[in-house]
Amino acid sequence: MVESASQNLRGRITIATSQPIVFCKDIHLSAHIIDGRAAAERLRRRVAEHTAGLKPQGLIPGLAVVLVGEDPASQIYVGSKTRQATEAGIRHFDHRLPATTSTAELIALVRNLNANPEVHGILVQLPLPAGVDSAAVLATIDPEKDVDGFHAMNAGRLALGEPATVPCTPLGCLILIREVMSDMAGKRALVIGRSNIVGKPMAQLLLQNDCTVTIAHSKTRDLPALCAEAEILVAAVGRPRSIEGGWIRPGAVVIDVGINRIDDGSGKSKVVGDVDYATAVTRAGAITPVPGGVGPMTIACLLLNTVNAAIRQRLGTNAETLRI
Ligand code: NDP
Repeated sequence: MVESASQNLRGRITIATSQPIVFCKDIHLSAHIIDGRAAAERLRRRVAEHTAGLKPQGLIPGLAVVLVGEDPASQIYVGSKTRQATEAGIRHFDHRLPATTSTAELIALVRNLNANPEVHGILVQLPLPAGVDSAAVLATIDPEKDVDGFHAMNAGRLALGEPATVPCTPLGCLILIREVMSDMAGKRALVIGRSNIVGKPMAQLLLQNDCTVTIAHSKTRDLPALCAEAEILVAAVGRPRSIEGGWIRPGAVVIDVGINRIDDGSGKSKVVGDVDYATAVTRAGAITPVPGGVGPMTIACLLLNTVNAAIRQRLGTNAETLRI
C-alpha cells in the first residue's frame, strides 16, 4: 500500500494515511499526491534484492551506456543512470564518445556490445548529435538487449500483446496508476501525446489493462471535452501547464509526464509539467507532481528492464523475471 497524503488548497501536505483512496464524482478539494520518488525507491530496492539473488548463480546484470557529445542534460541523465545502476548491483559499461562520432562508428560499437555476453542491456542516450542516423543506430541494438524498449521488434511485440521490453517512462506511469487504481478494467483513459517513446506505448499498456483508450495529439479537436470524460489522464505533450485543471474530470487519476523548464519570473528556471498542477490538484482524485512524479520512475524501470534482460539472456525466455 502506498503511503498516501492529502494536500490542502494551499498546497501543504497535511495528512499521511494508509487508507485506500476513495474516488467520487463530486468536485474534489484535494488530490492524493502520487509519490514517484518513494515508488521509484521501492522499485530500486526490489531490483537490488533480485540482483543480489542472482549473484550466487554467477549472473551480474550488465548495462552499457553510450553517450555521444557534450549535451549537459544528457550528461546528467547518464550520470544518474550509472550511479543508480551501481547501487542496484548492476555493472555498467560507459562509452563516452565525441560529437564527431559517425553513424558507422556507432553501429560498429553497438554490434560489439550485442556480442558481449557481459552486456545484457544497451542504452544509447538520445538525442544523438545532428548528422547521426539515430534510427539506424537504434535498429542495430539486439532486441533482447534493448532495455529502452525502442526497437521496432519490442514496439511490435507490445502492440501484439506479446512479451516485450516496454519503454521505461510509460512502464513507470503504469506502476504509478496501479498504486492508486487496482482495477483499471473498463476505465476511460486518455493519453495526450502519440510519441513512440511515451504516448503510443502508454496507450498500449492501458489497453492491455482493459481500459478504453483515446489518444490525443496536436490535431485533436476539443481536447477539454475528451479530458472531461477521462478517468485516467496521461499527459505527455511537452507544453508547460497546457492541460488546465478545469478540464479534468473530478476524481480522475492524472499522470503528468511533462518535463518543461520555464522561467520562474525571477530570472531562474524551474521545471513544471504539462498539467497545470495548482488547478488540477483541486479536481483530480490522484495526481503526480513535477518534479517527483514520473521522472524518478523512468530510471528505476530502466534498472528493472536490465535485470530482466539479463535473466532472459542467461536463464532462458521462460525464466522467472521480476514483475511489476
Ligand atoms: P514529443 O514531442 O515526441 O511528443 C509530444 C506529443 O504531444 C505529440 O504527439 C504531439 O502531437 C502532442 N501535442 C503537441 N501539442 C499538442 C496539443 N496542443 N494538444 C494535444 N497534443 C499535442 O514528446 P515526448 O513524448 O518525447 O515527451 C512528452 C513530454 O514528456 C515532454 O515534456 C518530455 O520532456 C517529457 N518526458 C519525460 C520523461 C520522464 O522521464 N518523465 C521521459 C520522456 C519524455 P503530434 O504528434 O501531432 O505532433
